[in-house]
Amino acid sequence: MSQHEFKAESKRLLDMMIHSIYSNKEIFLRELISNASDATDKMYYRSLTDQTLTFDATAYAITIDTDKGTRTLTISDAGIGMSESELQENLGTIAKSGSLAFKNETQATDGYDIIGQFGVGFYAAFMVADRIRVVSRHVDSMQAYAWESTGADGYTITPVDEANIGTTITLHLKENTEEENYDEYLDANRLQAIIKKYSDFIRYPIRLMMPKGEQEEITTVNSMVPLWRKNPKEVSEAEYTNFYQEKHYGFDKPLKHMHVQVDGTISYNALLYIPETMPFDYYSKEYEKGLELYVNGVLIKEKAGELLPDYFSFVKGMVDSQDLSLNISREILQQDRQLQLIAKNIKNKIKSQLQKMLKNDRETYTKFFETFGRQLKFGLYNDFGMHRDDLQDLILFRSSHEGTYVTLAEYVERMEAEQPHIYYATGESVARIEQLPQFAYAKEKGYEVLYFTEEIDEFITKVLMQYNEKSFQSIMSADFQVADEGSEENEAHKDLFAQLGTLLTGKVSLVRANSHLQNHPVWLTAKGDVSLEMEKTLNAMPDGGNVQAEKVLELNPNHPLFATLVAKFNEQPDLLAPYANVLYNQARLLEGLSIEDPIQFANDVAMLIK
Ligand code: ADP
Repeated sequence: MSQHEFKAESKRLLDMMIHSIYSNKEIFLRELISNASDATDKMYYRSLTDQTLTFDATAYAITIDTDKGTRTLTISDAGIGMSESELQENLGTIAKSGSLAFKNETQATDGYDIIGQFGVGFYAAFMVADRIRVVSRHVDSMQAYAWESTGADGYTITPVDEANIGTTITLHLKENTEEENYDEYLDANRLQAIIKKYSDFIRYPIRLMMPKGEQEEITTVNSMVPLWRKNPKEVSEAEYTNFYQEKHYGFDKPLKHMHVQVDGTISYNALLYIPETMPFDYYSKEYEKGLELYVNGVLIKEKAGELLPDYFSFVKGMVDSQDLSLNISREILQQDRQLQLIAKNIKNKIKSQLQKMLKNDRETYTKFFETFGRQLKFGLYNDFGMHRDDLQDLILFRSSHEGTYVTLAEYVERMEAEQPHIYYATGESVARIEQLPQFAYAKEKGYEVLYFTEEIDEFITKVLMQYNEKSFQSIMSADFQVADEGSEENEAHKDLFAQLGTLLTGKVSLVRANSHLQNHPVWLTAKGDVSLEMEKTLNAMPDGGNVQAEKVLELNPNHPLFATLVAKFNEQPDLLAPYANVLYNQARLLEGLSIEDPIQFANDVAMLIK
């Protein structure tokens, strides 16, 4: 028997494991199974060149066994095995190449991120075991060796008698504490669940002794061939749906699936789903976006948020890549770059899938958009419109053209050459918008109008500014009916309008005639960048401040009330103030704004009635 100390760095890692308060201790099993699978892979490659070895994948099972009496859990493989020096090299030191990256990473995160996402390999077993014995016989050696350690005091290596090639790792589980129950790793059902969760797609059978009635029975617990590695032509619609449901991506059915298989600078497979219905918590802060991340069939992270942009946060599914490293023995930075590459690729896949759906299956796309369109709109608005190229052609608005959803491209396509802007109107419903006097006027002019029924809609136009060199304009804006400025009425009643403007100083910047108000005596519009709708939305926000639209009071010269106003101005100009105040507030009410000074308003109304 030979006695050894751990290398300094390994000691630190070991310490971290022994005193780990990491809540996902169960991942130790994933690490040991992955090692067993790697060793079996090596055996397989060896068999390709070595005639004396035959390789039968089913015979190369990974076996897991428990013994409650001795509190032990055993993981055995028939892989390549380790020689005496390999035991020393591999289990006595953490891999050289990884040491630097590991050091940087531990300083930043206390190591807990590595344990969870990339694992720390063999040493993770010390999170649950106080004594570990590894018996291994290398394929090229007749002699087997036992490596044994209780952690802190180093390890021993002893020659032992063992006939089979491969490795057997026996963990003596820690005693239960008040916070931790280590007994659970002796329970076959619990082990089965852990294996299913992390190692379901390991390509060798993982065999476990399971209770079956009074008896016990060896069961293969992993499904081995992952759906995402299969040829999409050989996978049925039902299989895709099953996978979605088995994985609990949602309680609904998927609206659409994407099976992505990429072989290039970076290789990966992915199964992506667009759900049919919105998750109940989608717009709450509990909702966490992300895809499952597998490295070579092993689950690394359940919700890898970095794989999805916020505007596609509704996408569910998984990604598996062999080009990412499972452990810390490669540079973490490099992994991040690879991951970014995959994320970008996935974003483009989702985008082109949605574009395709929009083009070829408008009905399904509309259904999708009614569920998740708001998220795309927010994506368009956020980050100062940075994602416009990805999103502007995926947005739909209802429009006055047949009342259906249209894209901006379709709108612009239909525009007459002389139409200067893309027109829209804001309102809480389509019906409300269609009642606007400006709507009738726009219709008369033959303009198609987009119905902006969500608050975000108008804000989007402020970031987009233009679509295909056409700018946006609200038909509710004072700038929409500029033709009326300097019209006959404005000229004829110049003094009246000036006097009203003076009376409403600070409230409106202009009073003018507008002959398109149908049966309304007055109307309020806004000039410039801030619309009345935006004023309302911004002021309703907790930190919205006090935003004011530049308002224009429009009077209908064809309304009988206008004649009364003119008469009043000519006969008793001093008494014009209550008229101005009442008309202004009435116009505010029509816009859904509140009366500024209710007492003054009530007094003025009473006075006029009298
Ligand atoms: P990693 O797997 O990240 O390299 P580990 O600490 O898990 O780090 O394992 C270190 C090395 O020990 C492995 O690279 C492998 O060479 C060897 N090893 C671990 N488990 C086994 C096993 N079951 N059979 C053969 N070799 C093993």
